[in-house]
Amino acid sequence: MLRSNLPAIIPDFSKKLLVWYDKHARAMPWRVPPKLSKKGERPDPYHTWLSEIMLQQTQVATVGSYFEKFLQKWPTIIDLANADEDDVMKAWAGLGYYSRARNLKKCAQILVDQHRGQFPTSVHTLKKLPGIGDYTACAIASIAFGNAEPVVDGNVERVVSRLFRLNDPMPKAKDKVRQITNGLLCEKRPGDFAQAMMDLGATICTPRNPRCQGCPIRASCQAFAKGDAENFPVKIAKTPKPTRKGAAFVIVDEGGRVFLRKRQQKGLLAGMSEVPSSEWNARQDGKLGETSAPIQSDWIACEPVKHTFTHFHLELEVWRTHQNEFKLDGWWVEHTQLQDEALPTVMRKVIQSALNQV
Ligand code: SF4
Repeated sequence: MLRSNLPAIIPDFSKKLLVWYDKHARAMPWRVPPKLSKKGERPDPYHTWLSEIMLQQTQVATVGSYFEKFLQKWPTIIDLANADEDDVMKAWAGLGYYSRARNLKKCAQILVDQHRGQFPTSVHTLKKLPGIGDYTACAIASIAFGNAEPVVDGNVERVVSRLFRLNDPMPKAKDKVRQITNGLLCEKRPGDFAQAMMDLGATICTPRNPRCQGCPIRASCQAFAKGDAENFPVKIAKTPKPTRKGAAFVIVDEGGRVFLRKRQQKGLLAGMSEVPSSEWNARQDGKLGETSAPIQSDWIACEPVKHTFTHFHLELEVWRTHQNEFKLDGWWVEHTQLQDEALPTVMRKVIQSALNQV
């Protein structure tokens, strides 16, 4: 895209933003605060990468404890490369989007095997690694290595769309936002600029009720001038998510242990743990019932569970029975040890529903 097709650069934009950031930067365990970054201190690229992967689709407040747990278990990229994949999945359980955890482990191995345990510094090379797309590559290059790269997440899209009242809908306008951000960024402090834009979007230029009166860049903001910030970014109406249905079967033995098995290595929640379950099918109407159970037993209906994935809603019937012996592949887990299993959130809901009604 030609520079002439883009809005004019705003003078002093990054200066005003960084003055605000120096006072209001959010403290996060993976960040170097602006006081130190101005002196040239940078975060460990391993920490930047780990936090950025965890933050994809996940709230900052949720990520904090997972980040600390990962660093305690695997303090360096070499430790993570040597980790057992099942242990990584267990430590990730509850964060969702589990392919991120598998890619984390793969990426660590490649870095150790092919890059002597060092992160590449260029966006081009970073993007060749598993799980690292344009956003994450730019974030690592700019925050951990001080390269002037445009870091564009949902927060930055919102700020830039409002700043220039961009009428192009997302996600089509992503490239335009990227180029505009490239024109706005601070070449001396690119990492702080990127984090300042994210913080502004997360705390001031929020999706609803933006706090424009406290915004350091309101004098340049076209949406503020027009009073229509909430109309941006323009989005194409989403098609409603379909609903799939299924049934999950919780088997408890006389000692109160729960029977688990491993999901297939491909597809949604691949390789995670689950209680025996039917397929999740969009065409099912009506109840599946205990006829689809993996073993014959006296099944008790429990409170059904609802869960939403990226592309569909799931409604699961939950059934419970008490059995000690049967022929199924899997393993028993003590009730008190369930938190250490690689159980996705939907399965935790299922087990909770079944055990609450024992
Ligand atoms: Fe967002 Fe309001 Fe600031 Fe504009 S003035 S960038 S709409 S918070």
